Amino acid sequence: MKYYLDIKKSAIHGKGVFARNNIPKDTMFYQVPLNHIFLKPKARCAYIKGKYVYDGAVLNWINHSCDPNTELDVSGDVPVLKSLRNISPKEEITVDYEKTEKHQTKHACNCGSKNCRNSFWSSAVLSTSKYEYPE
Ligand SMILES: [Zn+2]
Repeated sequence: MKYYLDIKKSAIHGKGVFARNNIPKDTMFYQVPLNHIFLKPKARCAYIKGKYVYDGAVLNWINHSCDPNTELDVSGDVPVLKSLRNISPKEEITVDYEKTEKHQTKHACNCGSKNCRNSFWSSAVLSTSKYEYPE
């Protein structure tokens, strides 16, 4: 089964990632390509378990939710997106940034879930000048 994702305007923030077809619970539906994982930071990357991930295709567009439908499973060498519940077509894919990212910048949360914490921490925006870009 192949799962298709669309990047489009989100009610949560800017653009987001949306399921095109139904994704059953506990499905690994996206694997971050290996060439998107770096040992040194670059601008707008995510910090995940000691590695820096810059995935402009999918991961960078996923919005935070305090009640997410997806988790980033980082137990293996390559981060994978895994559904925590059944995801319907056109539903936005969301993850809880605080579960995986380095807590560096505080953002107001607009996820709209019942258990919203009103803010979340992430490392999504890193200073470009401070870091070397990977080759
Ligand atoms: Zn929230």
